[in-house]
Amino acid sequence: MSSDPGFVLKPTSTPLPAAERAKLMKDLGFGRVFTEHMVTIPYRAPDGWGPGLLSPYAPISLDPAASVLHYGQAIFEGFKAYRQPDGGIATFRPAANGQRFNNSAARLAMPALPVERFVEAADLLIRHEHEWVPPNAGESLYLRPLMIATEAALGVRPAKEYLFLLFGSPSGAYFPQGVKPLTVWLSKEYVRAAPGGTGEAKCAGNYAASLIAQQQALEAGCQQVVWLDSVHKRFVEEMGGMNLFFVYKDGGRSRLVTPKLTGTLLPGITRDSLLTIAADLGYIGEEATISIDDWERDLKSGVLTEVFACGTAAVITPVGEVKFDGGSWLVNNGQTGPVAQRLRDALLAIQHGSAPDAHGFMHRVL
Ligand SMILES: *Cc1c(COP(=O)(O)O)cnc(C)c1O
Repeated sequence: MSSDPGFVLKPTSTPLPAAERAKLMKDLGFGRVFTEHMVTIPYRAPDGWGPGLLSPYAPISLDPAASVLHYGQAIFEGFKAYRQPDGGIATFRPAANGQRFNNSAARLAMPALPVERFVEAADLLIRHEHEWVPPNAGESLYLRPLMIATEAALGVRPAKEYLFLLFGSPSGAYFPQGVKPLTVWLSKEYVRAAPGGTGEAKCAGNYAASLIAQQQALEAGCQQVVWLDSVHKRFVEEMGGMNLFFVYKDGGRSRLVTPKLTGTLLPGITRDSLLTIAADLGYIGEEATISIDDWERDLKSGVLTEVFACGTAAVITPVGEVKFDGGSWLVNNGQTGPVAQRLRDALLAIQHGSAPDAHGFMHRVL
């Protein structure tokens, strides 16, 4: 392979005073505060990826004919850097995000970025922004890599020029008042993904297409939408931008079941990590097909004890109630269940370095 063109460093000459930063970090929500630098890497066919650049966080300029604005070649990722007990910093499974980024790129006919460069870009940014990694449990520096097609050309074909960007956003505990179960809306009108479509890719367009169903969910008094399969509108796929888990009583143990990856689900890294750590906690973890009829029947019979969603941003969010056109079901009496709570605590403990990292999930940066 060609040699790595590396990164050029042009950090800001006017860093934010510590007091200003402290003020911004006082009330962290999600995705509202951005740090002082960003990393960009340009791509141009046939030469490939050029040198990366670390520069002050700033608006970018695009030609109005840039193909991302017309035909939507845009993908993104999301992962987090956590403060460790010794004051250092580690990211959670960044190479898995790099690999998924490339899978998304392939689906949208965009070029792959070597996973090592993806991880290196994040390490470089974090080293410059280490003071923006908040110290408390549940807090982190959220990293947002993305790639867009920048070539000015209106012909419909894969662009020949792209830009990789990466920036960071310190994020607070997603639920500062503790984990509160959500009410979710079963969408039978809209679908997120169809076989052969882009459901497996983390592409911007999937989100654009989901917003109207999310609006309907809000109008129905729910916080999130549950996506069903596009063909039968019966099989459960995901919740908003998170994967779902169903907790069953199985003798004395709990069985964690998550919908199978059929090609229309986004393969979540939190989902995969929970399947991995389930066994450590004495649970059975498995993938299966779950229909809304199963959901209702198993709630009524009492074998389905909890339902929760998982993803990088919120880690684990319990589902307390399910609403649909014509009715609703309560899950675990609308309360956070013990399995969801225990998994959440276990995952956060690994991420914050307060529990052993038996599966090599953590990538030490500083
Ligand atoms: C990103 C995403 C997830 C969660 O993936 P994680 O890697 O766990 O953050 C789930 N569903 C959709 C649709 C997503 O975009």
